[in-house]
Amino acid sequence: MATAVSTPTMDPNVSAFVSAKRKLFINGKFVDAASGKTFPTFNPATGEVLANVAEGDREDINRAVKAARAAFDTGAWSKMPTAQRGKLIWKLADLIEKYQEEFAQLESLDNGKPLKISRVADVPLTVEHMRYYAGWATKIEGNTIPLILRERSKFLAYTLREPIGVVGQIIPWNFPLLMAAWKLGPALAAGCTVILKPAEQTPLSALRLAELIQEAGFPDGVVNIVPGYGETAGAALSAHPDVDKIAFTGSTEVGKLILQAAAGNLKKVSLELGGKSPNIVLDDADLDSTIPGAASAIFFNHGQCCCAGSRLFVEKKIFDKVVDGVSQIAEKIQVKAGFEPDSDMGPLVSEEQMNKVCGYMESGISEGAKAVTGGARHGNKGYFVKPTVLVNTNDKMKVVQEEIFGPVVTAIPFSDPSEIVARANDTIYGLAAGVWTSDIKKAHSIAAKLRAGTVWINCYNIFDPALPFGGYKQSGWGREMGHEVLENYTEVKSVCAALD
Ligand code: ADP
Repeated sequence: MATAVSTPTMDPNVSAFVSAKRKLFINGKFVDAASGKTFPTFNPATGEVLANVAEGDREDINRAVKAARAAFDTGAWSKMPTAQRGKLIWKLADLIEKYQEEFAQLESLDNGKPLKISRVADVPLTVEHMRYYAGWATKIEGNTIPLILRERSKFLAYTLREPIGVVGQIIPWNFPLLMAAWKLGPALAAGCTVILKPAEQTPLSALRLAELIQEAGFPDGVVNIVPGYGETAGAALSAHPDVDKIAFTGSTEVGKLILQAAAGNLKKVSLELGGKSPNIVLDDADLDSTIPGAASAIFFNHGQCCCAGSRLFVEKKIFDKVVDGVSQIAEKIQVKAGFEPDSDMGPLVSEEQMNKVCGYMESGISEGAKAVTGGARHGNKGYFVKPTVLVNTNDKMKVVQEEIFGPVVTAIPFSDPSEIVARANDTIYGLAAGVWTSDIKKAHSIAAKLRAGTVWINCYNIFDPALPFGGYKQSGWGREMGHEVLENYTEVKSVCAALD
């Protein structure tokens, strides 16, 4: 007989953390917002207020930029021996690991995701990400360059790779802690100082991280964490004349606003934006792994992933079988509050997000799409949505063209493999794509033609700190992760010396 698994109780430190007013982290200290204002963050499983957080605004962004600028200019971080810098980043990773259960619980409460997922995905990936960039702190270097138009022995030319300066980082709510690590890890390794603005829906894990930054002993002002709304705090950070660079992850729409705001002082910008990723199944694919792979490509993190495999293209011969298989998986997904031990899928992050996703499903169905499974809200409390498989769509429908950012896949049959790449590429986005086939030549030939920053072959959602991630087309500028992201946070200086 199976033993009943009890719902985990909240860690006492987490209860204490959410019940006290959370403050901004500026210049190494926790402070109230200059306006004195706070804003609520909600538990998406119940819609109830979870915590109250100081509401950062323009004035607080100004204070944080001042602190980050001072920390950069004094060289407290940028001139610190890189071995020491790397050790501090590593120490932060150790501390996150030490308090991993607290982080997993905070993430589940604030974002809604199952605790069992934040325990095995969000938090351990965050730790490994930090360690990977701790290693990079000591390995950022320039080159010696032999000149080609002069006598070689008469000049010594070399490049230096220097930190770009004061960096503003604006992150979304889908993986709150992990996105903070994606941004902070490389910026800190490069020697930059940072103002991080978490999403207003999910500021808690970043603020707990701030406590560990303090505990680890980072110099004051190196990392500042200022929660607040996008239109106020986010916009002020993007437009700030003393910020050298903005790194943003979020929607394509907001990415464009940030770009405009950044134009004032021509700060450097990197953007990791939306997607409408094609997941292509050829008729020779191994369906035992493809069907669960295609289901997980869309349903992981409730479809709230910029790379979600939301357009499932399946060769006609096997279409019914794949749709049936993915739909059966969808029906077995336990949609419950994240703290329930058997929850596979929690609520969406907010009422707004739930209404947006439901609106898309209604629009698709009103245009003739059919929901094989799902197609509506789940229950009437909290922000749950049923995992949904839509068929009978056409490539022009909104549900096929626009990013839904929810657990909704459109399954689309195709009969001519030679046309599939053009259809897969027929979107403004180019973030990720999947190909499922047992023919290695076809796999690589399709991968070469896809206009996407990541192509997964016979797998999906494989993330690794060493593997670059980012978008073609309107999915973004620049890359996160790997050593490529270090380009976002460094300037190259060429030094050329005449030797006689
Ligand atoms: P979503 O639509 O999924 O909530 P957004 O792209 O709106 O994603 O949000 C991602 C991040 O961008 C959040 O931290 C949010 O506060 C911030 N943001 C939203 N609007 C702006 C803006 N106009 N300027 C700067 N940041 C913004």
